[in-house]
Amino acid sequence: MIKAVRGTRDLLPPETALWNFVEAAVRDVFRAYNFHEIRTPIFEETQLFARSVGEETDIVAKEMFTWDDGERFEDKKLLEAWSKENEDRVFFQEGMPFLTSIKPLGIQRQIWRKATNSVEFVCFRPTISSESIAALVKARTVARSQYSQEFGHHPIRLRLVVPDKVVSNSPWVKTEDVEIEGFPGNYFSSSQSLTLRPENTAGVVRAYIEHRLWDRGLNKLYYVGPQFRRERPQKGRYRQFYQIGAEIIGPPSAGSESPARDAEILELLATLLDRLGVENWMLQLNSVGCPNDRAAYNEALRKALEPVVGQMCADCQRRAVTNPLRVFDCKVPADQPIIETLPRISQFLDEPCRRHFEQVQEILKSVGVEFQLNDRLVRGLDYYSRTAFEFTHGALGAQNAILGGGRYDGLSESLGGPSAPGIGFAIGEDRLVLALQKSADAVQRKPDVYIAPLGTGMDREAARLARELRRHDIVVDLGDETFRLKKSFEIASKLGARFILIVGENEVKAGAFALKNLESGEQVSVPRPELPRKILAG
Ligand code: AMP
Repeated sequence: MIKAVRGTRDLLPPETALWNFVEAAVRDVFRAYNFHEIRTPIFEETQLFARSVGEETDIVAKEMFTWDDGERFEDKKLLEAWSKENEDRVFFQEGMPFLTSIKPLGIQRQIWRKATNSVEFVCFRPTISSESIAALVKARTVARSQYSQEFGHHPIRLRLVVPDKVVSNSPWVKTEDVEIEGFPGNYFSSSQSLTLRPENTAGVVRAYIEHRLWDRGLNKLYYVGPQFRRERPQKGRYRQFYQIGAEIIGPPSAGSESPARDAEILELLATLLDRLGVENWMLQLNSVGCPNDRAAYNEALRKALEPVVGQMCADCQRRAVTNPLRVFDCKVPADQPIIETLPRISQFLDEPCRRHFEQVQEILKSVGVEFQLNDRLVRGLDYYSRTAFEFTHGALGAQNAILGGGRYDGLSESLGGPSAPGIGFAIGEDRLVLALQKSADAVQRKPDVYIAPLGTGMDREAARLARELRRHDIVVDLGDETFRLKKSFEIASKLGARFILIVGENEVKAGAFALKNLESGEQVSVPRPELPRKILAG
């Protein structure tokens, strides 16, 4: 039996109702803050993540699903180059009926050579294969037998065109009467390294640059979708997981650097979690400074690590050399007492960064969003600057971060774009759903009415009634005329329907139907036109 791959899972009803509840609420909140949706591809060039997330992060170093998208043969390019070279000799007969019948065989050109008064079928292929030779031979047979009028008096020649390097590399192939032509030039696109997105900010910033979104001023974008990381699966940690995220990005002149944007994002998140009924969340807040502060801080960290790093885990020993900040990502318990003694970024912020951070805090206090300063919080991605944050929740255990985010003022430039300071976050939707106090049952809409067709020919009538009722936004489920009434009642109550509606021959004739309220047990006969109102009224 084939099962879902480890670290992935099926989301099934009724749980999907919770996911839909979350996504609908999230979209409402985004609308209130004037965010608009962006959808980027789920895979990108590997370079994008290496350059933005950072080579030294766990994500890029160990967790990406990356593959080599091998070289591809570009047959159109070869066809065009070859046709150009043969222009004087080629007479295209597009639109002739036999062309449509031999094209499916893979014949890409049918030409008329005046010089030899012959017809020629041509294939353009990356290699010499018996399949393409057979296709050519078959095309000729089809042409001769089905279109003898057109082809009767002309010899039909067969030609297989391949890149010349293929001919020189291949042993001689016996080809009956197919002429093999090696054509000069390179018709293979080079291979590309591709990666399933491990996060979505890089893709959004790539799109920002590619589509010159700065022309629109400040962009407030949000996304909802799957992300992929090859992590060790455990509760709340999957290899395909879902993120809901948002970014505010734009040129500095549009106010994208302002601490007011940081505060707006954080206040949005508080609103969102409250709206969803997530209780006891905690906002952990830090500033990781700007590149200047970081240089001085990294230096201090290196110095502090030098005498102690020998006692730390292998990962930390590597990080101490390549990117000391990442030492704070360490989860090894034995290393924690050492990490506690290390200098903190908060001591290294320059004046503008310190001021920026203070202003964020002032706005948060004025709007009443509680937070906890946590100067160990440096976040797992390299692109962050200044404000960095996480929202945690006790119910999630070891994987207690529901969401994380921060400012990334230099990211656009590092990807070759213009200056475009930004701030964003990503909520782990899987974890958010785990942290919800609501049950799937509470958010799922049950059928308003279950229609029970009674007896032969009643499926038709039931279908008509269902169609009428559904037009009134009534949730209808349907039985089957082969079911006994008892069985229909059982199904209706299992589904949690509020009413059962009985559709028998007598009811159809009378134009009035037995409607039974399954909660109160009350049963009434309701004329057809009054059914929607009666059902909606409960
Ligand atoms: P990050 O992009 O690492 O800051 O992650 C943002 C949020 O995504 C985290 O706070 C988690 O809630 C969620 N997340 C990250 N990795 C996973 C994973 N492997 N499985 C489930 N959720 C995840």
